[in-house]
Amino acid sequence: MHQFRYVGNKLFCEGVSVETLAEKFGTPLYVYSQQTVTDHFQKLDAALAPLDHLICFAMKANSNLSVMRTLANLGSGFDVVSAGELQRVIAAGGDPKKCVFAGVAKSEAEIEFALRQGIYCFNCESEPEIVRINQVAARLKKIAPIAVRVNPNVEAHTHAKITTGTYANKFGIAFEHIEGVYARANKLKNLKLRGLQMHIGSQLTQVSPYELAVKKVLPLVKKLAAKYALEFFSPGGGLGIIYNPALASGAAGWWQTPAAKGILTPASYAEKLLPQLQSLGLKILIEPGRFIVGNAGILVTRVEYVKRTGKKNFVIVDAAMNDLIRPAFYDSYHEIVPLVKKSGATVASDVVGGICESGDFFCKDRPLAKVGAGDRLALLSAGAYGFVMASNYNTRPLAAEIFVNGKKFAVARARQAIPEIWAGEKVVSWLK
Ligand SMILES: *Cc1c(COP(=O)(O)O)cnc(C)c1O
Repeated sequence: MHQFRYVGNKLFCEGVSVETLAEKFGTPLYVYSQQTVTDHFQKLDAALAPLDHLICFAMKANSNLSVMRTLANLGSGFDVVSAGELQRVIAAGGDPKKCVFAGVAKSEAEIEFALRQGIYCFNCESEPEIVRINQVAARLKKIAPIAVRVNPNVEAHTHAKITTGTYANKFGIAFEHIEGVYARANKLKNLKLRGLQMHIGSQLTQVSPYELAVKKVLPLVKKLAAKYALEFFSPGGGLGIIYNPALASGAAGWWQTPAAKGILTPASYAEKLLPQLQSLGLKILIEPGRFIVGNAGILVTRVEYVKRTGKKNFVIVDAAMNDLIRPAFYDSYHEIVPLVKKSGATVASDVVGGICESGDFFCKDRPLAKVGAGDRLALLSAGAYGFVMASNYNTRPLAAEIFVNGKKFAVARARQAIPEIWAGEKVVSWLK
């Protein structure tokens, strides 16, 4: 469920007409629904209620301060992957003590910063990293809490660029090596073994890979927990969302459709995993990103030109791959809808941006209602891995981000001014 829907023929975000926002703030424009963020967090939180649990929002999916504050206010922790993200948590009013630090390349400076902030746990991805964390902790006379990310070597059945839990991926430590790694880490004086972590991939839409992975690592978790008094186990993030409602049975109510068998929902996740997780008697962490914010944001764009070639109908818009790279990068599907619905025939269209790359497209040969210059469109489900992956390619400014709650709306990030794009640059002295 999300809060973008038509009232009459106009697209609304909660109680606000998106057309009004586009007129007021211009395009390209990201628009986020606070109620949707809240709703998704609470659905997951409720599904996990029988467990001692903590949701650590994977903020790389959307690190806008207003989104983060919304989640912090709901009690969320954060999964961070850099010192910059941890500083953002603090800027957003989040609690570092509810943060886990993931990622394969943590630098000494990052480890030191995170230790000083008192984060809950480092999720370690290699043995040299564990050794380094111990050294930094010793230097600071601190004890560093760590967990190891186990790579369970299961296929997540998702896009290759977001599969992380097989031995062909750079992530985690092989299942077979984990016991040895814990035994060696346990000998390092400035570490506390706090948990075991896992993350098998992103945009998982089926429960079965989770079930399989959890089943596989459960005996290992039990053994390690008994031996080293672990506090937590994390089955990770990766819960998928519906990008294309035509593919999900029962469009509007896909959350509540157990009929969509095997589809990953908070309910099916809880049903399949809760009994297994409860048997551990540990605290359970999960680190969802996309699931919480994916459907809570849209990218609004304006049609500049419509161009018909011999073969194609190109709808050329003012947003481009620098604003939303997912179609180019992951072959992602984003539903594209007009802000003002018109009746009439559809035309097979390619919606494309203005960047000088053939990969700069939002859809290809998709039947869309006929549009003309000046019409506005919304790319739905753009709340995760949207703005955060935006760039200044072609010296295009970063889009503005608007936050909506009920009938209230406000700028959560101002549109970047063009001179800001090169603000940190200079012509080197010998060229003057
Ligand atoms: C990216 C990532 C997540 C979040 O993934 P989503 O698919 O957005 O839920 C969680 N944990 C780790 C370690 C990640 O790298």
